[in-house]
Amino acid sequence: MNAKECDVVVLGGGSAGIAAAVASARNGARTILVEGGPMLGGELLTGMTIDGAINARGEQISAGVLDDLLALCRQMGGFVAPLNDWRLIQYFAYDPEIMKIAVAQLVYDAGVEVLVQTYAEDVVRVGETVTGVVVRNKSGRTLISAKAFVDASGDADLCFMAGAPMLPAEGPGNPQPVSMMFRMAGVETEPLLRFVRENPDYVAVGESDAIRGGRTDQQIVEEIYKQGQPCVFLKGNGDLMRKAIERGELFATALIMMQPTAPARKEVCINATRVSLKDPLAPESISNALRSLVQQVHQCAQFLIRNVPGFEKASLSGMSPRVGIRETRRIEGDYVMTPEDVLEGRKRADGVAKGCHHVDIHQDGTGQIRIPVANGGSYDIPLGSLLPKGLGNVVAAGRCLSASREAHGSARVMGGCMAMGQAAGTLTAMSLRQNAAVDVRAIGVERLRTRLLEQGAVLAGTA
Ligand SMILES: Cc1cc2nc3c(=O)[nH]c(=O)nc-3n(C[C@H](O)[C@H](O)[C@H](O)COP(=O)(O)OP(=O)(O)OC[C@H]3O[C@@H](n4cnc5c(N)ncnc54)[C@H](O)[C@@H]3O)c2cc1C
Repeated sequence: MNAKECDVVVLGGGSAGIAAAVASARNGARTILVEGGPMLGGELLTGMTIDGAINARGEQISAGVLDDLLALCRQMGGFVAPLNDWRLIQYFAYDPEIMKIAVAQLVYDAGVEVLVQTYAEDVVRVGETVTGVVVRNKSGRTLISAKAFVDASGDADLCFMAGAPMLPAEGPGNPQPVSMMFRMAGVETEPLLRFVRENPDYVAVGESDAIRGGRTDQQIVEEIYKQGQPCVFLKGNGDLMRKAIERGELFATALIMMQPTAPARKEVCINATRVSLKDPLAPESISNALRSLVQQVHQCAQFLIRNVPGFEKASLSGMSPRVGIRETRRIEGDYVMTPEDVLEGRKRADGVAKGCHHVDIHQDGTGQIRIPVANGGSYDIPLGSLLPKGLGNVVAAGRCLSASREAHGSARVMGGCMAMGQAAGTLTAMSLRQNAAVDVRAIGVERLRTRLLEQGAVLAGTA
């Protein structure tokens, strides 16, 4: 077996992992970012908006590394706008092709050593300390030894392989469905928005009091029109979609969500497809789902072209490079976030990141649970929900955090994932000591919060 060595290994190059690696390197740690796929950025590259970064009142609650990433997108002409979905949330829209460049620039410029197409298949653990991760790539197997680790694998692979406890799967039903994101170019915004203004019953609007602000549905579709962006959520129980589903022209789904990615290409990102799986980690399941998902992409694109003004001359312009997975393993941490933590917008002295997205649990067919955070505010994500029980030198970040199913249904979006990643990377770097095992619990949350604030994180001062 080959060997490599560094201070901190970050496993996973999605939204949490890139923020963790950048924060770790900027705080002085020799950092290696290990990513199984061919690109860095994960779901940031599909074109979906960055949710969980602006609360429903319009306050930005995730910043720091995220701001730097968005600044790079802006410089390269790939930032669209902060937008209101006039339903539940506000978010950042951007061009995913420019995002590919921005993510790479951010990570490499921070001095991170990157290993793509490199899959972690095992860990070495001595007592409560993980001493190395075994990866496989074209060079064969390599043991990467490090003093501390961030598990940003989405599926908690590192913690799982180290034998750390996982939270039990919570029903009812399957985990959230898997989806294939896609994009369509050549979409005319004006006729689309006029159609929405004339058919308020077709679209999801005003599901949060903070967003509705006492407006009628008709007044909200006027706001969508005035916003002037192809930011539209067709709803599965509205006549347009419901009848198409009944006719067999469209698969059963809760929403067709469209958001702008690149005005020059008249392009929107579309989130609509879904396949419900008992275990999204089972290779056979995900492989079979791929077949249905690509068919759904084609069907949905045809449905839009035939039925929705503005799409007449549109065409498919891109598809996610992988099946999108929302919910798999979650670590059991020192603290398990509760539904109340999220829904009541609880603030805490040990918060190291924030979230604000509604509890958003996609279900089979046309089902979806959507519950807003109280008063359109935000909640704090405590350090304990990032610390896997039984491991002294590992911090988790992203959608594998320690949270109940409902809390996870909110915290899993990318604004929060990036904030958690920044906290995890900063903590691992701060915890390094000469010739001694790292204990990530020894730093203390106050010192971590102080450093995070110095580096642009938002930890207080918002609703
Ligand atoms: C279809 C869909 C739509 C969504 N819509 C939105 C939205 O509109 N806005 C929003 O903000 N969020 C959205 N989300 C949620 C959000 O995208 C994810 O929850 C978030 O990106 C998770 O980030 P992460 O970094 O924790 O994990 P991931 O993005 O899953 O990244 C983990 C990375 O680790 C790598 N990896 C995993 N295991 C290994 C291993 N053993 N070895 C090496 N590498 C490994 C993977 O290749 C991957 O790149 C959506 C999710 C899906 C699936």
